Amino acid sequence: MLDGVAIAAEIKAEVAGEIEELKAAGVVPGLAVVLVGEAPASAIYVRSKVKTCGELGIYSEMLTPPETVTTEEMLEIIASLNARDEIDGILVQLPLPKHVDTKRLLEAVSPDKDVDGFHPVNAGRLQTGQGGLAPCTPAGIMEILRRSGIEVAGKSAVVVGRSDIVGKPAAMMLLNASATVTVCHSRTRELARYTRDADILVAAIGRAGFVTEEMVKPGAVLIDVGINRVMDAAEVERFFPGDEARAAGFRKRGSTVVGDIDPRAFASSSAFTPVPGGVGALTIAMLMQNTVTAAKLRRGLPVSR
Ligand code: NDP
Repeated sequence: MLDGVAIAAEIKAEVAGEIEELKAAGVVPGLAVVLVGEAPASAIYVRSKVKTCGELGIYSEMLTPPETVTTEEMLEIIASLNARDEIDGILVQLPLPKHVDTKRLLEAVSPDKDVDGFHPVNAGRLQTGQGGLAPCTPAGIMEILRRSGIEVAGKSAVVVGRSDIVGKPAAMMLLNASATVTVCHSRTRELARYTRDADILVAAIGRAGFVTEEMVKPGAVLIDVGINRVMDAAEVERFFPGDEARAAGFRKRGSTVVGDIDPRAFASSSAFTPVPGGVGALTIAMLMQNTVTAAKLRRGLPVSR
């Protein structure tokens, strides 16, 4: 089991060290998080991002425009953050209300402060192997592989999911690391033909337990990005037969979180990321790392990775 929580702690400790060095040079990295409205899930994510900033010594600021904010007003907020020197990273928490033009906003964020790595300029930099700021979740996947000593070069890597946030950048990073990459999606025919060929399988689909044991090669490395809330007791028993700890958690909360890979497939893998406690645990650590990287790049300081 690849322990995302332990790897995240390792990364955060390294980032805290980099922040100490920056502070000694008179630089305090700063992150601004924009949270529109009051969606509870988004608020939880944003709070934990802000809290981690505090723990590591990053200055943070939370802006909370109301649900009724217009695209033009959001563009003004972003322009003012782009102009402020003490802000190194700008994060617009998604999803935004339907009436707000998300694409326009993400393009308005200065690519140098785009710590989510969603700006087309940063997507282009990733594609052309120029470094810069890369999306946090796929960057976390690469850190898990690297820090667990899993060889990527020459391996067959299959990514299921082609979102701009996870699937596509994950595929690009695996390609940059010299894997032979296949990207699958909802229109892929005979999906299992591809997944069964994977030495490294990344599932970023958004459907609980979608990738079954029959779909994976024994000995494969299984990277599960999915975060799906399951509220049906029978489903929980099906995915986690005899797992008393899961059942107890489910009874307490009325739901449990399941990835996109059926957990029963993990037994025949050579390594896997659990859900929770795998890829998801890395995302905030990578955001902190991106904020420090942005602070360094903006000042022309060397970046260690
Ligand atoms: P999206 O909904 O944007 O993308 C899902 C992808 O899965 C699409 O490319 C879609 O194909 C593909 N897909 C859907 N159904 C099938 C199918 N039946 N067969 C093959 N492919 C299919 O989701 P995200 O990429 O944003 O997220 C994916 C998962 O990762 C979610 O569970 C999400 O909660 C989780 N997540 C976790 C994060 C973390 O920190 N761990 C961060 C971000 C996301 P098509 O393009 O053809 O529609």
